[in-house]
Amino acid sequence: MMRFTGKRALVTGAAGGIGRAIVAGLRAEGAQVAVTDRDCGALEAEARIDGDLLDGGFCDALPGRVAEELGGLDILVNNAGVITRGDITTATDADYALTMGVNVEAPMRLCRAAIPIMAAAGGGAIVNTASCWGLQPGPNHPLYVMSKAALASLTECLGRDHAHQGVRVNAVCPNEVNTPMLRTGFAIRGLDPEAGIATLNASVPLGRIAEPEDIADVALFLASDAARYMTGALLPVNGGKPVG
Ligand code: NAD
Repeated sequence: MMRFTGKRALVTGAAGGIGRAIVAGLRAEGAQVAVTDRDCGALEAEARIDGDLLDGGFCDALPGRVAEELGGLDILVNNAGVITRGDITTATDADYALTMGVNVEAPMRLCRAAIPIMAAAGGGAIVNTASCWGLQPGPNHPLYVMSKAALASLTECLGRDHAHQGVRVNAVCPNEVNTPMLRTGFAIRGLDPEAGIATLNASVPLGRIAEPEDIADVALFLASDAARYMTGALLPVNGGKPVG
């Protein structure tokens, strides 16, 4: 028996590095998956919904829309995220609105809309992609760090508040992952991504930064019944490197 047979899932940021791996993993184990991103392109999924998570109305309506299309909603993965770089003196109002909008407000809206649907059906699982930087700050990314700390706090709050309804809320907290988000960071600084990743690999006790599947496997565990006694948990997935 596959872990997600009969389950209906919604994954945000589905066209990104970690999102693609989560979608592929859920579908490989029997879930029907609705994917959302600004452009889902030709992503393989049971439902593809393009949209902007900065649009509050889009977020508010999305869980209901997915439940209607798939016949229910058992799993929500709030995976989309943006990273804004630079210390606070260089942070613009637009950086703040973008970072808090995508990383905090959208998951808040999606959880708010999804939880009553899940509760009415007897329960469900929400997995948020936070960050190890939401547990302990890394340098020179204050907006990103505070947004991920807020998402971690939201996870802990909702995990406790909705346990009685059978809705579990947990977060996976990666350190560096080999995705477009990480690679563009090197490119923006004029560095070669391959050389940058080789340097980062040497800094990780397990010998390499994460591949998207390393994170997806833990997200799938949290979404599955194997994690039935976990809620409000913030799970570091860092190869033994807490913060870098
Ligand atoms: P990614 O850039 O490959 O994917 C992020 C996805 O989110 C993209 O497909 C993007 O289009 C989508 N997205 C961003 N803004 C959106 C918006 N307004 N509306 C709709 N979709 C939007 O990055 P990733 O590395 O796969 O990141 C996934 C998650 O993992 C993020 O929450 C990120 O903060 C977190 N994370 C990543 C790393 C890392 O090193 N890559 C480390 C820790 C945490």
